[in-house]
Amino acid sequence: MSSESARRIAAKARRIVVKIGSAVLTDNGNVRPRVFSDIARQVCALREEGREIVVVSSGAIAVGSAELGWDQPGRSIPEKQAAAAVGQISLVDAYRRRFARFDQQVAQVLLTRVGLEDREQFLNARHTLHKLLELGVVPIVNENDTVATDEIRFGDNDNLSATVVNLVAADLLVILTDVDGLYTEPPRKGQPTPELIELVEKITPEIERAAQGSSNAFGRGGMATKLEAAKAAIRCGALTVFCNGRKRDALLRVARGDAFGTLFLTGSRLASRKHWLAFTTRTRGELVIDDGAARALRNRGKSLLAAGITDVRGRFAIGDPVSCVDGRGQELARGLVAYDAGEVRRIVGIPAREILQVLGYSNGDEVIHRDDLVLVQESSE
Ligand code: GLU
Repeated sequence: MSSESARRIAAKARRIVVKIGSAVLTDNGNVRPRVFSDIARQVCALREEGREIVVVSSGAIAVGSAELGWDQPGRSIPEKQAAAAVGQISLVDAYRRRFARFDQQVAQVLLTRVGLEDREQFLNARHTLHKLLELGVVPIVNENDTVATDEIRFGDNDNLSATVVNLVAADLLVILTDVDGLYTEPPRKGQPTPELIELVEKITPEIERAAQGSSNAFGRGGMATKLEAAKAAIRCGALTVFCNGRKRDALLRVARGDAFGTLFLTGSRLASRKHWLAFTTRTRGELVIDDGAARALRNRGKSLLAAGITDVRGRFAIGDPVSCVDGRGQELARGLVAYDAGEVRRIVGIPAREILQVLGYSNGDEVIHRDDLVLVQESSE
């Protein structure tokens, strides 16, 4: 597809998630008040066109650290959590006041990864966001940093924004950052700026290499986490754009189809529940599967049977997400198991008809039913 046709599709997006990073919101830790007005103006202009917008905004830690009089952002986890608790109030208040000038209501939505891993909470968040959009309100989403410690966090709002794309079924994700987009190689100080990639049709190893980079002091994610977010969002059917949010009208330019930033084309689309399974849940264990089972999953869309499992790792309960890995440890698929870890260990390698005999009961022939299974590598589908 040509870059122009891709941009024309972006111009037609009805529901847009815009992620605003700390690099756009702050200058050396100080908030740039203009950003809030700029965002409000652009979002309201798009609302006038009948488009629905969800804002995912970072900045709580940066704003809170400044308000606490720290010259550096909080370093330890409790410091970051305290700073986020202080800063989130001012952050949302700043949006509320700027949007009010356009008579636009906003809502604060704080999400956590652990919460969204729970299917029921995920659906509740989805209902709330849909209701807010139906009411014409602009949700301002952030991670609830106060309750989320490192290992249970999204950690960066890039990945959170991709989950929000799934929650609201957006057709465009715009990640505003402080660089023009993805370059052919990471830009280095004192060296000429490498070439900007305008269109990514497929995420190749070259694209992965181009995204290796560093994160700044306030924001959590560098290009690598943005690329992860793009991978997840495009599997939801949302075009994704990385662009320079410090340039005038960045959001409007993308949403109106200008060649601005780096645009990623959508991949083969996963149903929302499978997307949640692949990108929002964390797995609790691993099932090592043999080549025959790997082929059945990958090429024939089959369920995983005990006969194809060679080893079981970790502790998991019925209904937990687990990874299916090949002999080299490469993850091929993820799914929700019908048996707990102890049970799978007892039925490894046996034909389905013998499950009843071995366990004394059966939860069905499949250890992971195909409806509860998703392939993690797009290229293998
Ligand atoms: N949730 C964090 C904050 O509001 C930001 C995370 C990120 O920068 O991606 O400060």
